[in-house]
Amino acid sequence: MDYDKKRERLAERLKYELNLSDRVYKAIKKVPRHLFVPERYKTEAYVDTPLPIGYGQTISAPHMVAIMCELLDLQEGDNVLEVGTGCGYHAAVVAELVGKKGKVISIEYISELAEVAKANLPALGYDNVVIIVGDGSKGYEPEAPYDKIYVTASAPDIPKPLIEQLKPGGKMVIPVGDTVQWLLIVEKDEKGNIKKKNWSSVRFVPLRGEYGFKSIRY
Ligand code: SAM
Repeated sequence: MDYDKKRERLAERLKYELNLSDRVYKAIKKVPRHLFVPERYKTEAYVDTPLPIGYGQTISAPHMVAIMCELLDLQEGDNVLEVGTGCGYHAAVVAELVGKKGKVISIEYISELAEVAKANLPALGYDNVVIIVGDGSKGYEPEAPYDKIYVTASAPDIPKPLIEQLKPGGKMVIPVGDTVQWLLIVEKDEKGNIKKKNWSSVRFVPLRGEYGFKSIRY
């Protein structure tokens, strides 16, 4: 079976299992995940699992990318911050959802992975994604405030700069915890008050940097 057919099947299965919105379903169906994974994992690109991308990191499982997109309620024109670019797959799915009027600022700690994403995304026409090498646990002030923020590595707690850089009325999705991790939905109301909700237990690589884990135990 060719990659397009496999991707369509996976997107259809996720739509049914997760009750995906049409917009998220179409984005998952469109973005060629096999072009974001290392050559040796290409044949597994449409298995719903994380895969190694080098440097001890992973490309997230498609179901997790889809769920995070749904939880963020991404809209055309949103200004979005992604912490943890990896090879750029999740950013491409988000770029589909925010459209040409929107923007994805994606920050990656490991410069070699940022280089991979910088090669992958423009080659597929995603010119609404800007990749920055740096410590995303501090957010990225020059492009703040953000309508939506999502973090693809688990933090010890919600980093204060990320709360500050979220727009009033904005939403953040972030995994928090070490051996036991929870995906949190964080909402900031118009007055700047914060409301947190636990979505479910999850499994992510650890967040590094100033507001990340100082020593990685797991
Ligand atoms: N977004 C990716 C995808 O498309 O599937 C998944 C990324 S992977 C699960 C998490 C990424 O977060 C890794 O590439 C890791 O290097 C990065 N990371 C960890 N701590 C970071 C930090 N403080 N700032 C930026 N990136 C960080």
